[in-house]
Amino acid sequence: MYAEVLIEYKVKSLDRTFTYIVPENLRDKIKIGMKVTVSFGMGDSTINGFVVNIKNDVNLGNLKEIISITDEELILNEELLELGKYVRDTTLCTLISAYQTMLPSSLKIKTINSKYQKYECYLKLTMPVDFVRSFIESEAKNQNQKDILNALIENEKVLKSKFSSSSVNTLIKKGIIKEVKELKYRINKENVRVENKVVLMEDQKRCFDEICNHLSEEKTFLLHGVTGSGKTEVYMHLIDVVVASNKCAIMLVPEITLTAQIVNNFYERFGGDVAILHSGLSAGEKYDEYLKIMRGDAHIVVGTRSAIFAPIRNLGIIIIDEEHSESYKQENTPRYNAIDIAKWRSAYHKVPLVLGSATPTYESYARALKGVYTLLTLPKRVNDAKLPKIKIIDMKEEMKKRNVVLSSYLKDKIRDRLEKREQVILLLNRRGYGTLVNCSSCGYTFKCPNCDITLTYHKSTNSLRCHYCGYYTTKPSHCPECKTGELKDFGLGTEKLEQEISSIFPESKVVRMDADTTSKKGAHERIIKDFKEEKYDILLGTQMISKGLDFPKVSLVGVISADSSLNIPDFRSGERTYALLSQVSGRAGRSGLDSEVVIQTFNPDNFTIKMIEMGTFIKNYQYEMSIRKTLKYPPYYYLVGIKICSKIYEDASKEASKVYKYLKDNISTESIILGPTTASVFRVNSVYRFQIVIKYRFDEKLVNALREVDEMYINHKTVYIEVDMNPYYI
Ligand SMILES: [Zn+2]
Ligand SMILES: [Zn+2]
Repeated sequence: MYAEVLIEYKVKSLDRTFTYIVPENLRDKIKIGMKVTVSFGMGDSTINGFVVNIKNDVNLGNLKEIISITDEELILNEELLELGKYVRDTTLCTLISAYQTMLPSSLKIKTINSKYQKYECYLKLTMPVDFVRSFIESEAKNQNQKDILNALIENEKVLKSKFSSSSVNTLIKKGIIKEVKELKYRINKENVRVENKVVLMEDQKRCFDEICNHLSEEKTFLLHGVTGSGKTEVYMHLIDVVVASNKCAIMLVPEITLTAQIVNNFYERFGGDVAILHSGLSAGEKYDEYLKIMRGDAHIVVGTRSAIFAPIRNLGIIIIDEEHSESYKQENTPRYNAIDIAKWRSAYHKVPLVLGSATPTYESYARALKGVYTLLTLPKRVNDAKLPKIKIIDMKEEMKKRNVVLSSYLKDKIRDRLEKREQVILLLNRRGYGTLVNCSSCGYTFKCPNCDITLTYHKSTNSLRCHYCGYYTTKPSHCPECKTGELKDFGLGTEKLEQEISSIFPESKVVRMDADTTSKKGAHERIIKDFKEEKYDILLGTQMISKGLDFPKVSLVGVISADSSLNIPDFRSGERTYALLSQVSGRAGRSGLDSEVVIQTFNPDNFTIKMIEMGTFIKNYQYEMSIRKTLKYPPYYYLVGIKICSKIYEDASKEASKVYKYLKDNISTESIILGPTTASVFRVNSVYRFQIVIKYRFDEKLVNALREVDEMYINHKTVYIEVDMNPYYI
């Protein structure tokens, strides 16, 4: 018996299978999709790989044997093996990196995984119940023994640790009971299921019914519901139906900030039938949750992007909440989009895919209007709650009154909410204290030595930090250039905002949520929980506070500067700004309180800002779409982003021109090639990055040409290439 093994080797030219002999002792156990350990290359070095085929005879001499099976339970099933090829072909990655992405990181570790398994000891009967009953009558020596046996007549198994060990041992010796070890999951929720407490409202019911009518079809629904319209309830009702027919559900949420809130709702409704997968879990927890899914011990998977690969066999529905979120696109290899994977799995299992959002991407919305997706709408908030009033503040006018951070209007509104004991959310999409530090006498500016970017001042640690590469240094007391000049910080980050708010409203309790305050495990959950329990009056933070969070007492949302996202030179910035402002606005007034959103901007006449004021998603969509049509951007054209990277400037520049020429000669003349230009931040981590962008509609030669380009640089000493099909950012 022989096995073809795809080895875990990070060299593209070795992304192929090698044949190994299956030794006698593994023949009964080995299966396609299993992870095995083999020796590879010269000497005794060992490596892991996936068995992708098993056959009985081969015409090769001198083969090595498989050393061991890494984990008998962890198997990539037929579907996932097939899906890996799709990921390889659509993102141009290696097959092995596609397979590795499908398993959580703890399962990629080369050591045996048994160290992640925790066991619990149970007792079970070995004799028929009648025999046991008569044994209790006649022979049982004491009450302890009787208790054990009675418990086992009632239950299939009982925890060993609950009973006296001498009685247990006696009964085992007599051959009446046996000990069994079972895997203990670290996250262990009670197996309860609560009936739906919430009755769906008319609109929700209509959407729910429509999807229910197509539960065994490959079909994509776009659920476009305003913030607070009760999309989560629709999801839960759908999952209820799916699980009742003994099928499974995958539900993706955009980021870990949101998982806590949603997972808690799911635990309350579905108990231990829920498995969770996200980066906030320990390696052991991830391993357990993965096994729960593989063994069918959980029917519902809730997680972030990579949970789309959950090894579910009997899939019944896929739901992607906040489908517009960029977190569904992976930014490093393999650069897949979870929505594409979801579509593939929806087709494979013939089940519906539900994409939900208050602000769908314009690509999705265009597909829905064309009928490629089925559009379902929830135009109203639940319980007759009103959408908040929107007030735009012109900060140019406020600057004349020396209101730099807060306009007098927003200040008054915050004071009003504090008096009413209602809560406030403030969005500022920049972390740190000041965004720029320079010398007031010579003008010296602190820049990252590795990147083309200014350093951000973090006051709490008195440090200057690069948000691209992580470089940091202590802020000196005087200018390093002229030695005497005083250093001043400019710009506004969340840290400075927190300080300003505390000094304007000294009585208020303020909490900040950004990457700096949430780096520790469980920090997100704690901030959200404390704010919900009204331990704080004001929550301020970066975009991580904008999506999905549900706080009944919030009646005011302030956007400190709407301009930071408007000013990003990207064809999606109008779409993204609308989504961000509309999402953060949606945090206000969810329980019916009269609510207001105050948006501060230097561009009150900007089209997107006007549309936010009017609350019209569709007009902003139409406006942006007309621009995209003219400029040939998605969804009218597809995009490919190619980065040519090197630590040596000349090499990057020279090879970028070569790549351009090669593409020009080898892809369709209908496709448009732009560049090479310098990437938006040219140098990151000491690497210079040139960029080429391709716009195309149909190009049969494209994928091959891109593969060729990619392969040309596999063994290049100083230059590497990154190819991103359908990038989120260009
Ligand atoms: Zn100076
Ligand atoms: Zn840097």
